[in-house]
Order: sequence, then C-alpha cells, then structure tokens
Amino acid sequence: MRAMVLENPRQPLVLKKLPIPRPAADQVLIRVTACGICRTDLHVIDGELTQPKLPLIPGHEIIGIVAAVGKAITNIYTGDLVGIPWLGYTCGTCKYCRLDKENLCENARFTGYTLDGGYAEYTVAYAKYCFRLSEQYNNASSAPLLCAGLIGFRAYHMIDRSAQNIGMYGFGAAAHILVQIARAQGKKVFAFTRDGDKTSQQFARGLGAYWVGGSSDTPAEKLDAAIIFAPAGELVPKALQDVDKGGSVICGGIHMSEIPAFSYDLLWGERVVRSVANLTRKDGLDFFELLRSVTVQTQTELFLLEQANEAIDKLRKGKIEGAAVLVMAGK
Ligand SMILES: [Zn+2]
Ligand SMILES: [Zn+2]
Repeated sequence: MRAMVLENPRQPLVLKKLPIPRPAADQVLIRVTACGICRTDLHVIDGELTQPKLPLIPGHEIIGIVAAVGKAITNIYTGDLVGIPWLGYTCGTCKYCRLDKENLCENARFTGYTLDGGYAEYTVAYAKYCFRLSEQYNNASSAPLLCAGLIGFRAYHMIDRSAQNIGMYGFGAAAHILVQIARAQGKKVFAFTRDGDKTSQQFARGLGAYWVGGSSDTPAEKLDAAIIFAPAGELVPKALQDVDKGGSVICGGIHMSEIPAFSYDLLWGERVVRSVANLTRKDGLDFFELLRSVTVQTQTELFLLEQANEAIDKLRKGKIEGAAVLVMAGK
C-alpha cells in the first residue's frame, strides 16, 4: 500500500510503499477512502506533541470500508462503512476509565499519533473505537466530522445550555461545522478570525455567523461562552474579556502557545477557563445521533494522498476554507 510517513518531526512526510497491515484479533483492517487533515496533525508533524510513534502514518479523521476483521470481532463485518477518530484505544481499568472519562485514560492510544493513522491506503484500528456509519457518510466530506466535528461538539457541550451568544475563535474546520449546529439550535455565533482575514470572515458570515470580526476586535454584544480553536494562548485573556459574568472559555485544541499573564478581574465574576481533551466513544455516538436532526454541510478542499505535504502547508498558512481532506485515488 502507499502511505505518507513521518520519519522524524519537522520534516516533510515521505511517500512509501509498505505492506498492508494485518489486524490483530480485536482489530479491523480498513481500506481508507478519505482522511481529513486536522490541526493536531500539524502539532505532531511540527514536534509540538512530543511522543509520536516513529515512523508514523498520521491522520485521525478516517472514513473507510472494512476489508478484513480480526478473529474476535463479532459486530463489524467486511464491507461495513466505518469512521475512525483520534481515540484509538483505552485500557478500561485505570481511574479515569472507571469514572467514564476514557478521554483522560492513562494508557490511551491515539490514531495518527501513537497508532498509525489514515494517510495511507489501508490502516488497522481497534474495532471498539470505530464508529459504524450509515451510507450517507460514504464520501470525503464526512471525514472532518471525525475530529473537527467531534471535538467541536464536545467543546460545545461544555457550555451551559442557556448560553445564547457563543464566540468561536479561529474559524477553521471545527468552527465551520459547529456554527451550523449552534445556528440550528437558535444560538448567535460570533466568529473571530485572524485579524484582517476577510475571506474567512465572509465564509463565517455565509454559514450563518451573527457577527464576524478579527480576534482583537470587540464583539457587538457580550458573549455567554467562548470556544477557542486557534492554538494561540493570547486568545484566552481576550476571550475572558469578551465573555460576560458566569461565562466560560473552552480551549478546544490539544496544543496552545503560552497563555500570557492576566489580571484577576478578567476571571472574576465566576468566569471559567477549561480545556477539552480528546473524546469518548459516547461523544461520537451522541454526535452522530445529533446529526440525524441537524444538517451539516462540510466545506472541504480535496488533495490526493501524495499531496499531503502541500495540503499541510496550506493549512499551516491558514489558506484552507473549511477542512482539508486526503482522498485515495484509483480505489
Ligand atoms: Zn484507562
Ligand atoms: Zn483532530
């Protein structure tokens, strides 16, 4: 099979021909049809996440067809359509797993980071962490749902349900999905892009954002909650400044630059700052359940597998509107 491989951090991926992996008893072999490129992949490739398996096949927004199943698998069949997310394995026995917080599992393994992922024609995954998908998701546009969508959804659920005015800082793959869900639920979305990024602001407006502006602009109304998707620590005090008393600021990314010191006044008034780490299997089930009643259209830019480096570079420069997705040609 062909795969794009990270041999060492801070180096371009290398196109390689590798043997098709064999599934263990509790794994399935998947013929990948599409794999989204998540910002987390950039943090892995750039060495900001420091513990990757090496060499590594990145990618954790995988859509594919089951090509073979391990001996112990009884609930997934060859030919099934599946989605594979970031959470690739949990131990089931640590303190967090026992508390239904498997997203915090001490022994978790992550797709495209500590397990090989989907920048390849085939991959293996532990069956318990695959989502079986209905045929409507059998396309490249569905790939970003597996992380951008899911993590956005988890972050959104950290917000008090009564929150009406919701700020989204960094209007990329996650926010462009989440704005559609928030709108469908009658929320007002305030979209913050890089300062002066009129293209992204127009994009956000087109998807139903109530207010758009640069990240240093003051929104037209106080926010009840803010979700930060951009990996920029300086947005934390800025978002705290924008949220009203009792509001929360949710950091949705796995990596962020240093948060500058700020005055306690910004936190006072029972404002909350918290992060969102990984996902649980239940998040995935709840998310796909929600999508039965809310229509989400993802905007994607498609690249061939061997164009992964080019796609990554465009994402890094903020030049992707919506999400970048790799598709496997000739399959
Ligand atoms: Zn665990
Ligand atoms: Zn991701």
